[in-house]
Amino acid sequence: MSWLASVITLFPEMFPGPLGQSLAGRALEDGVWSIRTHDLRAHGLGRHRAVDDTPFGGGAGMVMRPDVVDAAIGAATEGLDLPLVYLTPRGRRLEQADIRRFAAGPGVALLCGRYEGVDERVLEARAVEQYSIGDFVLSGGETAALVLLDACVRLLPGVMGSEQSGVEESFSDGLLEYPLYTRPAEWQGRAVPPVLLSGHHAQVEAWRKQQAEDATRVRRPDLWAAYADRTPQRNGLPV
Ligand code: SAM
Repeated sequence: MSWLASVITLFPEMFPGPLGQSLAGRALEDGVWSIRTHDLRAHGLGRHRAVDDTPFGGGAGMVMRPDVVDAAIGAATEGLDLPLVYLTPRGRRLEQADIRRFAAGPGVALLCGRYEGVDERVLEARAVEQYSIGDFVLSGGETAALVLLDACVRLLPGVMGSEQSGVEESFSDGLLEYPLYTRPAEWQGRAVPPVLLSGHHAQVEAWRKQQAEDATRVRRPDLWAAYADRTPQRNGLPV
């Protein structure tokens, strides 16, 4: 059984979109993963197949109706035991650890919001996990779903060329990745750091760790604080 993405959306034609290309596209063709889309509109009400209504309490925009969303969730998850995720800026921030958990399971069901979002009651009733891909507002959940799926699919067995590339990348050890260099060794007067040409593996490793720590400390104080908390310290710096 391949890893399954079951996507509930008003725009099924947005899938697999960019995930039909490159690594994810090849894996899709090879059956490593599969995708089913469920058109919310098919569960809409009345002649116009309405899926939304005005918000109780007033305010701008429209809200996706709980009865319509519930029917779509029912169709998208029938006979399946998948985690059900709603992509929303109100959710917990999606992290690599969550991606690893989803990738290790049988797949994921994704609810893509539009308008102002989804009626809260259906999220409670269906025990939906809520995740945000960052502190900004997209026009719809489809691009967020594609982000989540891209991150999961590349972790599925056999998808990445080198198994090692999943082990050493950003977040794998709580740090950002070290900077990368390739040929030519000198470009526009900029030389590759000499240690990388030295052939001394231990020195290369030490340099990369230092670079990863420096980048994390400067760019992501939140990650740095968590890393420093669980790493032995000398003079306030990890050893
Ligand atoms: N009124 C909502 C709010 O302020 O939180 C924003 C609604 S947004 C215009 C429409 C849909 O885009 C959301 O229901 C959600 O599915 C998706 N979306 C927007 N930003 C997102 C983000 N940062 N992460 C995940 N999904 C997002």
